[in-house]
Amino acid sequence: QDRLSVWAKGISPSPTLAVDAKAKALKAEGKDVCGFGAGEPDFDTPEFIKEACVEALRAGQTKYCPAAGLPALKKALADKYKLDNNLEVDPSQIVVSPGGKYSCYLAILATCSPGDEVVIPAPFWVSYPEMVKLAGATPVIISAGEEADFKITPEQLRAAITPKTKLVILNSPSNPTGTVYTPVEIEALVEVCLSAGVLIMSDEIYEYLLYDGVTHLSPASLSKEAAESTITVGGFSKTFSMTGWRLGTLVAPKAIAAAVGDLQSQTSSNATTFAQFGALAALKQRDEAKAAVAKMLAVFDSRRLKLLNGLNAIKGINCRRAQGAFYLFPSLSGLGISSTDFAARLLEEELVAVVPGVAFGADECMRLSYATSDEVIDKGLERLARFCQQL
Ligand code: PLP
Repeated sequence: QDRLSVWAKGISPSPTLAVDAKAKALKAEGKDVCGFGAGEPDFDTPEFIKEACVEALRAGQTKYCPAAGLPALKKALADKYKLDNNLEVDPSQIVVSPGGKYSCYLAILATCSPGDEVVIPAPFWVSYPEMVKLAGATPVIISAGEEADFKITPEQLRAAITPKTKLVILNSPSNPTGTVYTPVEIEALVEVCLSAGVLIMSDEIYEYLLYDGVTHLSPASLSKEAAESTITVGGFSKTFSMTGWRLGTLVAPKAIAAAVGDLQSQTSSNATTFAQFGALAALKQRDEAKAAVAKMLAVFDSRRLKLLNGLNAIKGINCRRAQGAFYLFPSLSGLGISSTDFAARLLEEELVAVVPGVAFGADECMRLSYATSDEVIDKGLERLARFCQQL
């Protein structure tokens, strides 16, 4: 008897979580592992956010709340989108979910049917193609290499859109490359989607993690028409070091937001009620929140440059100066080895954990997260250099 469904058989486990789990297991055995696999800030959640959550817990906020999120949090999110993103939204267009990952999944599930195509630029976040497949739709991958700064062009996008295309996924700043599209580039991609009549899912979970003075633009803020065609995903995990809280957000045209709310009400119900009070504080106490993010960004920036310079000093490795998120995505093409072999041998021989680029649709690269200490970066670079030298 075949006990597993087509959904279960079609899905691959998250390779990024797998690398992180393996590195943590080796550490638990007492091995001195340098982990560059983590997709989360290594800082604790700011104290004022934790306080607000504890207070809510003490005050008995331990029950279900409306499936789409606490009304006060949705109102605060509407204010945030107006102030920070120049996007006018009504709270009824907002759904708070257990994690941005679930927000993405529900956005796809609410809009894509079997037979539909979803255009995904590679390198891509590992979960997009799997989520599309879980909706019965077909991922259509278009690739942008290192030479293109990992950015797709409007022409490439136009050529990938067919009558079956329902959705285009954009993710800037990007996981895994750290690439940030300029406002002009975003505008050109949105124009292609609007003229083809396809929806956009804009995953902006790293919107506040920017360096070198670059800016973020929300596609939905470009025009009324753009807002009518865009689902904007965000969350608290990366901005406020709240990965374990599981809180994601989504802004969509009313009918789509309502469908997402219905899907959520039948699958997970609301995101954890008292956790939402912590998120509310993060949005309401703007000055404290800004200061906390600025402090984290200053540390990330110095690590980014240290890792970038260190990587480029290694013969055979070439790394672009990524300006967002907390990842670098160097190319290994000068070394003549696949990313899978490279990552496996590097962990085995030098106890350095990186995620092979093949997981993101780019086998010539690897992803390193600099959400780790200066000591780990220094030691990891030393080991990486030694490893590459003897290849
Ligand atoms: N989108 C991207 C591009 C991500 O990298 C992540 C996390 O790794 C998420 C969404 C989801 O984050 P979370 O579910 O923790 O909110």
